[in-house]
Amino acid sequence: MVWKLFRLFRKLHIQGLLRFIWTTWNFNDYFVGFEKTDAVKGIFGEKTEEVLRNLKVKFVLFGYMGVDDVDGQLIVNRRYLNKGNKEDIYLDVIHELVHVRQWLEGKNLFDPHFEYVNRPTEIEAYAYTVNEARKLGWSDSRICQYLETEWLSEKELQQLAKNINVKYK
Ligand SMILES: [Zn+2]
Repeated sequence: MVWKLFRLFRKLHIQGLLRFIWTTWNFNDYFVGFEKTDAVKGIFGEKTEEVLRNLKVKFVLFGYMGVDDVDGQLIVNRRYLNKGNKEDIYLDVIHELVHVRQWLEGKNLFDPHFEYVNRPTEIEAYAYTVNEARKLGWSDSRICQYLETEWLSEKELQQLAKNINVKYK
């Protein structure tokens, strides 16, 4: 009995530790009202509410945002969420939700046959997001500014812009 309790306690302790590193929450608790937007309905259609109800978010302390290709859940840097530009974050969520749908369709989100900027799953997500950015009134130069990140070279950025019909600077 004591041994069992000890084992249980140890298990709880480990789970507690993992939770500290890799906290999982409900998408709807952090991204309120997304299921009502046309942008998100355009991604999931009739399944919008069901998908978002089941979607989880893992908070980490690096990067920006992504989708875990093991379980199709969102990965979000909590610091970016707190400090990033709100419109950028909104567009990032839209981008990642396109990946969530692709994952649900069984697509490989990290197909190594393609460079990042030429990967069909990325082009679809960026094209959809850019369409939303234009609805927000963004110019092509503002969109290019949004597309810029420290891990894309200028040449890659130029290629990405070309692939999604955005005028490069
Ligand atoms: Zn992406």
